[in-house]
Amino acid sequence: MKNNSWFMQDDEDEFGEALHRRTEELYRVPNTELDVDGYITCSVVPLRDVVVYPHMVSPIFVGREATLLAIEEAHAENRTVIALNQKDPELEEPSFNDFLPIGVEMGVGRLLDMPDGSSSALVQGRRRVKLVDFIQTEPFIVARAKPIPEKGVGYNGEAGKQTEATVRTVLELFERCVQLDRSLPEEAYLYAMNIEEPGWLADMIVTTIAPPLEDRIALLQILSAKERLKRVVTLLAQEADVLELEDEIHSKAQSEVDRTQREFYLREQLKAIQTELGEGDPWTRELYELRSRIEGVSLPEEAQIRALKEVERLMQMPPMSPEVGIIRTYIDWILDLPWTQATEDNLDVKHASEILEQYHFGLPRAKERILEFIAVKSLRPKRSKQPILCFVGPPGTGKTSLGRSIAEALGRKFVRLSLGGVRDEAEIRGHRRTYIGALPGRILQTIRRAGTINPLFMLDEIDKLGVDFRGDPASALLEVLDPEQNFSFSDHYLELPFDLSKVMFITTANTTVTIPAALLDRMEVIEFPGYIEEEKLEISHRFLIPRQLEEAGLVEAGDEAVEYNGTNKGKVVFQEKALQRMIREYTYEAGVRNMEREIGRACRKVARLKAEHKPYPTHITPAMVEKFLGPPQFYNLEAERQDEIGVATAIAWTENGGEIMPVEILLLPGKGNLQITGQIGNVMQESAQAALSYLKSRAVQLNIDPEIFENVDIHIHIPEGAIPKDGPSAGITICSALVSAFSGREVHKDVGMTGEITLRGKVLPVGGIREKVLAAHRSGLKTVIIPSRNQKDLIDVPKKARSELKIIPVEHMDQVLDYALNPEVKKEAKPSRPRRKKEIDPHLAQKKAQGDAPSTPRDASPEEPGRHLPAAGVDEVHQNYPRVRIVLD
Ligand code: ADP
Repeated sequence: MKNNSWFMQDDEDEFGEALHRRTEELYRVPNTELDVDGYITCSVVPLRDVVVYPHMVSPIFVGREATLLAIEEAHAENRTVIALNQKDPELEEPSFNDFLPIGVEMGVGRLLDMPDGSSSALVQGRRRVKLVDFIQTEPFIVARAKPIPEKGVGYNGEAGKQTEATVRTVLELFERCVQLDRSLPEEAYLYAMNIEEPGWLADMIVTTIAPPLEDRIALLQILSAKERLKRVVTLLAQEADVLELEDEIHSKAQSEVDRTQREFYLREQLKAIQTELGEGDPWTRELYELRSRIEGVSLPEEAQIRALKEVERLMQMPPMSPEVGIIRTYIDWILDLPWTQATEDNLDVKHASEILEQYHFGLPRAKERILEFIAVKSLRPKRSKQPILCFVGPPGTGKTSLGRSIAEALGRKFVRLSLGGVRDEAEIRGHRRTYIGALPGRILQTIRRAGTINPLFMLDEIDKLGVDFRGDPASALLEVLDPEQNFSFSDHYLELPFDLSKVMFITTANTTVTIPAALLDRMEVIEFPGYIEEEKLEISHRFLIPRQLEEAGLVEAGDEAVEYNGTNKGKVVFQEKALQRMIREYTYEAGVRNMEREIGRACRKVARLKAEHKPYPTHITPAMVEKFLGPPQFYNLEAERQDEIGVATAIAWTENGGEIMPVEILLLPGKGNLQITGQIGNVMQESAQAALSYLKSRAVQLNIDPEIFENVDIHIHIPEGAIPKDGPSAGITICSALVSAFSGREVHKDVGMTGEITLRGKVLPVGGIREKVLAAHRSGLKTVIIPSRNQKDLIDVPKKARSELKIIPVEHMDQVLDYALNPEVKKEAKPSRPRRKKEIDPHLAQKKAQGDAPSTPRDASPEEPGRHLPAAGVDEVHQNYPRVRIVLD
């Protein structure tokens, strides 16, 4: 009867109880009684890979049908069976000789079905038996065997001692094994200790430590308890060795694991401690240094908090994170800006005056204004709202160098920033940090360069500021310059208010016309007029020559500078006439920048001769000028100019300080069309139309046949190639040239004029008188006609120029014609037979030939006429032309 219920028990208690019941049942099976011969006859249970020892209870798995039958029957009859080990476990139907001779009589329990289809039964070993023979083999084997009683072992005598020693050894070794092998329960040792029979002890231990099958089988076959014990000693020693080795390996592995864990733990602790002390790994250390740097420098609270916050952010990041660089740069910017560093102002007016005089000739108005500024500052040092000065004048008139001198006088740092071509607001105010490669704007970049919070900050070319879709830099600049706002200037990158109120801003411009009104409003304009020849000579002698001689290494060591008074023995001196020639024929400018360059060139030529130990001139003569500087760049216009019909001289204002400009008119057979060429703007075209209408209306008074207007085409040309020109101030000049062309009266060669004309011939005032008059003077004109309402502007014109020019104020065109035109009509100049006028201005002809010469930035090179000075910021339309604008108003 099969019952597998206990096997299926989930509940442990129930399982334990069932097992207990089964074992008891097993114990109750009596040993088979001996027959008369002392044998027992029992069914055989062949065993393949298990060994059952006496006293031991263990389950066996039964597969073979015969065995099942044998067990079932034995169980049913409450009889024992004999367990025999097969020599070859693989054999299915072993015969007598296939079994080992020693087996075990054992009680069997009921068969239980296993989940894999096999069966199992609990068995209990009783005693060793020696196989005698088989009584039957079918349906299962029944054998006769002889039980072998376990011989008692005495502990007396020599042999007894030996046995005791062996038992102890066995127990010690077993204890060791139990200690080392976690799968062996402690109770096993206690159990072993209490076994008195050495044979049983041996069997029990072998069952417990489960050596290889052959060892177990071999041990079963040993009948002598002593022998068995000895054998067990060997097995235990082997087992203990293996276990010790295992244990060693295990503890090594464990200690390795422990060491790694320990190191990890210690490292973590170390990190925590270092972090606490600020001495972590290089990255952490760097961050701690950074933090203490931030805490060490004097920053406004807001900036400090921000910087520390950014450091905190860095600490959360791995050092390789791409954001690290961005944040570092930001922090560096905060640290590098001069938030509080300032120089102390030297507000000694006398000292300032000396410095300004020492480096600058003339410029009385500018100097005076600066000294006033310093005086007020010395009286009211706390007053931070200073007016912004704007130096306006042509290039090379000393605006920048004066700024530099002011900085020196005040003891402030000097920095410059050119605004020419700045179109993007971000250039002033920076890009937000979200942009890749964002940086602060140029204002803060320059302040960082200055290293102080109160430098003298020169904003050059404020008139060349551009505006486009990227924003209006002027409005950003307004915030920079406005004393009401600039104490907390906000840069997009920095996102922290920066105090610009202590900075002394000076702006420079060539003209006020293009300065945005809002900006101009906040600035105090100081004009830097161009220089007349005498001033240029003086500046050359006093400043430019000494400087250039020194640059060229022509000043002997120990000499401060070469004085200009003829007493400088053996030193290089420029003759007055030579300088004059350089001014007239090699430079054509309002300032002295080209002059300085030409002087420098001449000095270098001399320096080369000196360095090559060749004879070198100590007095530079006019002839040497040509030798050193090549052929003249500008011709003396006075010599070649002549009275002509249909050509009048306009004086125009340019950013470079004023120009004279011929207006040519040609009459051709035609139908009264008017053609105007020479890059003329709308205003000038209209001005020409007005002049023509006026002329037509006055034809009779001017002795011109009104019918002629129907038979000719009029071509007005204002040369100077591709330079755009505009403005109404050529009105009276065009009109004069028209009258000349139609009437045959020549225009005086040395009269220059400027003025707007109305249809009724009234002459209206125009701008730029000072530059225009100076240009006329420079060009050697003798007479200048200006609108009478412009007379007030003459005050700015240097006295010498005023006294050497005949300046005629006019109110009406008739007056202009009276002064500018010859009264008589030239015979061959019949208006009905207009002829081609020849090029009247050789200088212009030459310029045309050089028309392709590239324009150079700001300072025209000496090889190029000084008037080809580029001016960034002119109207978009004119971008492709040389960047010069001529405005005639
Ligand atoms: P700007 O800024 O007006 O274009 P700079 O200040 O650069 O001109 O002047 C050009 C050169 O001319 C400088 O070397 C400067 O020293 C010199 N210079 C101009 N004006 C004077 C002056 N009044 N006295 C002495 N040197 C002058």
